[in-house]
Order: sequence, then structure tokens, then C-alpha cells
Amino acid sequence: MRYDVAIIGAGITGSSIAFELSKYNLKVVVIEKENDVAMKTTKANSGIVHAGYDPKPGTLMARLNIEGSQLIHELAPKLNFHYSQIGSLVIGSTEEDHAVINELFNRGVANGVKGLKLLKTQREVHLIEPNINKDINYALYAPSAAICSPWELCLALAETAVINGVEFMRDSGVDDITKKGDVFEIKTSKGDVEASYVINCAGTHADDIYKLVLKEKADKSFTILPCKGEYYLLDKDQGYLVHTVVFQTPTKNGKGVLVAPTVHKNLICGPNADFEVASKDDTGTVQKNIDYVRSSALQSVPNIGFGSNIRNFSGVRATLKGLDDFLIEESKEVPHFINFAGIKSPGLSCGPAFGKEAVRILAKDGVKLAEKEGFKYYRLPTFFSNMSVKEKEEAIKKDPLFGRVICRCETVTEAEILASIHSPIPATTIDGVKRRTNAGMGRCQGGFCGPKVFQILMDELHLPFDKVYQDVTGSTICVSETKEGK
Ligand SMILES: Cc1cc2nc3c(=O)[nH]c(=O)nc-3n(C[C@H](O)[C@H](O)[C@H](O)COP(=O)(O)OP(=O)(O)OC[C@H]3O[C@@H](n4cnc5c(N)ncnc54)[C@H](O)[C@@H]3O)c2cc1C
Repeated sequence: MRYDVAIIGAGITGSSIAFELSKYNLKVVVIEKENDVAMKTTKANSGIVHAGYDPKPGTLMARLNIEGSQLIHELAPKLNFHYSQIGSLVIGSTEEDHAVINELFNRGVANGVKGLKLLKTQREVHLIEPNINKDINYALYAPSAAICSPWELCLALAETAVINGVEFMRDSGVDDITKKGDVFEIKTSKGDVEASYVINCAGTHADDIYKLVLKEKADKSFTILPCKGEYYLLDKDQGYLVHTVVFQTPTKNGKGVLVAPTVHKNLICGPNADFEVASKDDTGTVQKNIDYVRSSALQSVPNIGFGSNIRNFSGVRATLKGLDDFLIEESKEVPHFINFAGIKSPGLSCGPAFGKEAVRILAKDGVKLAEKEGFKYYRLPTFFSNMSVKEKEEAIKKDPLFGRVICRCETVTEAEILASIHSPIPATTIDGVKRRTNAGMGRCQGGFCGPKVFQILMDELHLPFDKVYQDVTGSTICVSETKEGK
């Protein structure tokens, strides 16, 4: 099968492009190395939809941040991912902080961020965040900043693409790409694919993918430098501590650690920035780094109860060597090969704007973009735990499995878990179910519901016990049978 466009990578960049292209009469395939969407950086970040005052005016990051954050705001009710426009503060206490905060305000105004406000007294800041450090005297308030569930946003975009005809190949690592005439031959671990255009959205591996097609001209590639950021995720009893996203004033050493509520009412603290990573896929956490995150977060909010920590995790930024911006362009060396590279923060906030940008590049190249009739949005199901009492009663009446709670911490029902296994991009692993339903996200981190989800996956997908994975393909949980054969 020859596709018009093959997209490599199903993080937020690839999924957003798939979403936008699914509005047109094009044959599109998404090729993903892992067994699900949002398996790399897109699942491990702060989940902030940035207002757009941080990137330097005139950069791609600035333009796409403003466009993307507005699009996310518009898409939230259509796609039903968790999103909340809670605003953000950049807090400061010294005269130097004050100068940086003023600079961010000016950048924001130049970038077109709406509603920015400088708070110039301790009282003004503490009225918004009573629990922050009493030394804080200044802040930049950005009411348009928001928080979202990054994997839900990515999934909703990818599932919409799939119901509108885009093919999704999972567990299909791209091993080689050769351009023959006007067609790309793409070798994957699941077979070969042909396409007229390739869009490279491979995150920290975008340089490796580009080198495949450059062949002997591999020295013309850009270089991605992985940079890890680590986090604390605290239980819901700490979620009340802040109401907005609280950033520290950036310094020459970095952007500082943020403290924010999550859309699921937890508290998140992080990240640091560590270039000393073992590999581009190194998502281990290091004691000295999480200690740094903890002490930095306490500088902003002194009474965080770290005893309520439920998880440490990390994500890896795809920073470009020698360029503090995204690199989005059609290759000069290989026509019709389009790179979306160096997609570091605010890549999540840009999300849907990447799709628009891909359409602009294809249109400029003369690709015929005829709008498809009958395009429809895929709405993620509403969590049972978020339903009103009346809605819960009606749901249980329609399907009694809404009455069987599998995850006690997050009140996730069997009906929701089954729906996730039969959705347009079905969950096939325990963590796949977790990202779609929240089962296992709570205080016990799947200790109680994990075995039950395991059993449901085995039964629904007719899988042998050693093929039910926790996360990536091969992350086996059981290696031998019980006496009962399970
Ligand atoms: C610590 C941290 C905090 C952040 N916080 C924020 C934030 O709050 N707000 C914000 O806007 N942005 C944030 N970001 C940035 C944001 O998370 C990224 O910009 C975004 O997730 C990048 O998405 P992506 O799709 O480009 O890459 P990824 O999500 O990494 O996706 C790339 C995909 O390509 C696939 N792939 C790789 N190689 C191959 C291959 N050979 N064959 C097939 N597939 C392949 C991978 O498996 C992966 O699924 C943060 C990033 C980090 C690390």
C-alpha cells in the first residue's frame, strides 16, 4: 500500500499531525516503535499548557505556542480530555527576579499573550497563592495558562485520526528509509511501507531517523541532545496547596522547579534539567536530582508534605545542539521529507499547531488538500468518578459493570476498563489501561487493581499470561502458571 503521508512517531507531534491530516482526502499512516501512543516524552512532562511568554519573540516556539494553546482550549470540550485553565504565576523575591519577570512580561506582550499582569506587592501574590513562600514580592500572572492530561490529549487526537481513516501501526520501529524516485520505502519491524511524504516526529530519535534517509550525507543531520527532567507526584491530600501553576523565576541555570496541581487533583513538583543521561531513553530517576527537585519546590511552597509522594518519574527533552528553537522544515537534502525536530518544551502546548504547520508545509509544496466529508471528533469517555450521582445511576442501569469498581483509589469501574480495551486505539497493556481510565494512578499505584486489570486484559484479548505486559512490549509480569492454569 502506498500512502500519501507516513508519520514516524505517535507522541503529541505525530498525533497532532495525524489529527489534522485526517480532515483531508489523504492516505495517512502513523508508524510507532512502541505499543501505544504517548509512550515517550509526551507521557512524562509537567502537563502545562503554557501561556506563551517564555519563548523569544520571532521564534517558531513563540508562534506555535500561542496558536497551539488556543487550539487546545477549543478542542478540550470537543475531545473531552482533562483540561483546566487555572493560570500561572512566575514568582520572585529579589530585584534580579523583578527584572527577569518584567522581561517575561514584555516578551509575552510581544508574542501576543492575552491578560498578562504584573503583581507588584506581596499581598497581591499571596491573595492568589496563600501557601507560597512569604518572601515572594513579585509575580507575573498569566490567566491563560492551563493544565491538561498530556497522554489523554495525545490519545484523543490520535483516536480522532483513526476514526477518520488514518492507519496506526504500533510496535513498528523504523529501521531504514530509502528514497527511490518519488517514493520513500520505509522498513519497519512489522513490514515495509511506501509513502510520497515522510514526516519525522521521532522525538529524541528524530536525528537518528533523519540519518537513515540521508544515508552517506548523514553529516548534514542536526543533533539531538537528550536532557532529563525528574518529578515528584504527590497524593491528592497535597493538591490543595496551590491553585495556579507556580513557576520560579528562570535563572542562567535553568527555568527552575514548578509546583502545580494536576488535572486529577494531585500535586506535581519538578523538573530539573540533567544532560548527563545514559541514553535518549533513560527515564530512571537519580536520588540527587529528586532531592534537588524537593528542596527547590520547598523554596516556593514551604509546607509541601513530601510524605505523600506516590511516584517519582522522569521525561527526556529533545534539545537541539546549537539552536534554541524547534526545527520544522522540509529537508533541503531529501525533498518531501519533513522534520519536526527539537520539539522540547513548549511542545505539548503547541500540540495541535504542529498539525496546522504540517498542512501549511504540504500546501506550500503543492499537495492537493481536499477536505474530507463527514470528519468527526472522537470524544474520550467521561470518567465514572467525574459523573454526577444521577449520571452514575443511569450508567449502572445501562451497564451493570459500571457498578463494579476495579480501582478503589480512583473509583474506576470494569465498564470503563473494557471500553478502553475496545476503543479506536485499544489499550493492550496495564499502563495502556491506566492512561485511558486512571486505574492504577492512585495512592496504591495499582497494587490492588493491577492483578484485576491483568485478568481482564487476558480474558478480553485472549492473551496467554506471559503476553500481558505492564508497559512496553516485553515488560512481562508473569512467567509461570498457577495450579489453576492462570
Ligand atoms: C521534563 C519535561 C517537562 C516538559 N513539560 C512540558 C510542559 O509542561 N508543557 C509543554 O508544552 N511541554 C513540555 N515538555 C515538552 C513536551 O513534553 C514535548 O515537547 C513533547 O512531548 C514532544 O512530543 P513528540 O511527539 O515530539 O515526542 P515524543 O513524545 O517523544 O514522541 C516521539 C515518538 O517517536 C517514536 N519513535 C522514536 N523512534 C522511532 C522509530 N525508529 N520508529 C518509530 N517510532 C519511533 C517514539 O517511540 C515516540 O513515541 C516537557 C518535556 C520534558 C522532558
